[in-house]
Amino acid sequence: MPLFTPSRRWQPAFYPFKDRTFTERLEESFERSIKGILWGCRMCGNCLLQETAFICPMACPKGLRNGPCGGSSPEHCCVDESRPCIWHAIYTRAEKMNRLDMLLEILPPLDWEKTGTSALRDVSSKARKLGYYKTLKSVTLAAPEKRKENWDTFFREIRQPEWWAGDSNPHPTPAHEPVSDLHKKLNSGKFTITFELTPPVSADLSSFTQELAQLHSSVDAVNITDGASAMPRTSAFSAALKATSSGVEPVLQMAARDRTRISFQADLLGASASGIHNVLVISGDHPNKGTPPFSRMSPWDYDSIQGIWMARKLRDDGITLDGREVITHPKYFIGAAAAPFASEPRFQAIRAEKKINAGAQFFQTNLVFDIPGFEAYLEALDKRNLLSRVFLLVGLTPLTSLKKINHLLKLPGIHIPGWMIDRITNATDPKLVSHQLFLELITRLQAMPGVHGLHFMAMNNITYFRQVLAETGLNEITIKK
Ligand code: SF4
Repeated sequence: MPLFTPSRRWQPAFYPFKDRTFTERLEESFERSIKGILWGCRMCGNCLLQETAFICPMACPKGLRNGPCGGSSPEHCCVDESRPCIWHAIYTRAEKMNRLDMLLEILPPLDWEKTGTSALRDVSSKARKLGYYKTLKSVTLAAPEKRKENWDTFFREIRQPEWWAGDSNPHPTPAHEPVSDLHKKLNSGKFTITFELTPPVSADLSSFTQELAQLHSSVDAVNITDGASAMPRTSAFSAALKATSSGVEPVLQMAARDRTRISFQADLLGASASGIHNVLVISGDHPNKGTPPFSRMSPWDYDSIQGIWMARKLRDDGITLDGREVITHPKYFIGAAAAPFASEPRFQAIRAEKKINAGAQFFQTNLVFDIPGFEAYLEALDKRNLLSRVFLLVGLTPLTSLKKINHLLKLPGIHIPGWMIDRITNATDPKLVSHQLFLELITRLQAMPGVHGLHFMAMNNITYFRQVLAETGLNEITIKK
């Protein structure tokens, strides 16, 4: 167990890509042995300890470098329940050290050329460039405030290479015409309805096309899941194209789990060129949430926040991550996932702010059943002045059976109040009670300030969905709340 990173270290270290000189190997062995004992260092070569309250974030099984996933909890990591969530530990320690706001800085993905190499080498070469004596003096002998500033500047320049240049500032979308109908409707104040559709495990999309036809006049957009639950299905891209050609606007989900930064940027350009103008950038379920034989478990090439940052830069600055100019800028409305019930609301609000600063324009939340818990999340967003900076679409689903309840209870980031489960399980007509609870939930969420729409998920029965819309009057909503 490393001294300063409270997590069992089972992930293998990275190894250098190229042959190393004797001196380099010596430096690397030295760094690995010291930082291994202290932080469980994996030798990512792109050290962030300064930024993450001196806990190594690479202990996260997803390799997330910008905060927890939507399954984070104070109790344990959602991928490996035998250890704590490393990002929860980082937030908790940063809060104690009064460094929480440092976690807002958008940190870069790994430069894989540097993995396995000594991160201390970057430190010493920068000190050499500035002059060893001058550097030492500036971080030890200056007045306390200045010393802190010098220290932060010195390390920020190391961890933020020019090709990334991340910061903690907002990067709002430049004022321009909305790029999709969903964007236009949300901008105009319309309360919107989106529905999540999972593509079939089939090379024939005719049943999927029928579902689209049923949804055509009932929803503002359809989310197309991307390898949901880490299982292969017809690609989200081809299903989104089918939606476009069927006259239903898609929100293309793009999971970082299955892409490198190269294919991600290529897919963004391709999506826009193909008329898909809403994207939802997510990290994706870990491969161990799928079915065996399990896919590669090693870290993602980028995380959702880095994905949002790349998507915005591609669209607004017209440059790729490797600095090439985009001939025609893509057009898309950038969405992100929000997790009101993961870890603690104040920590989730930091994660939400980071996504908004990176470029997220709308959130679709994980499932909400617990109204007071959701109000606490909204309050945490409000404290950081986020409610006016993002459109919020709340995820919901009916609790149609005990089997579904038990399944949902196993998923990270979902909380179903005990009284709700009791009411359904003790009812003489559980279906009727479940239906009434669902209608109540919709009515309450719809009335909440800061909520701009509802996102229906995990619903196979489109006829029932349409019945619910009719009963709640949602099919007629056109006015701004
Ligand atoms: S951030 Fe990278 S270099 Fe720093 S301790 Fe963690 S694995 Fe090692």
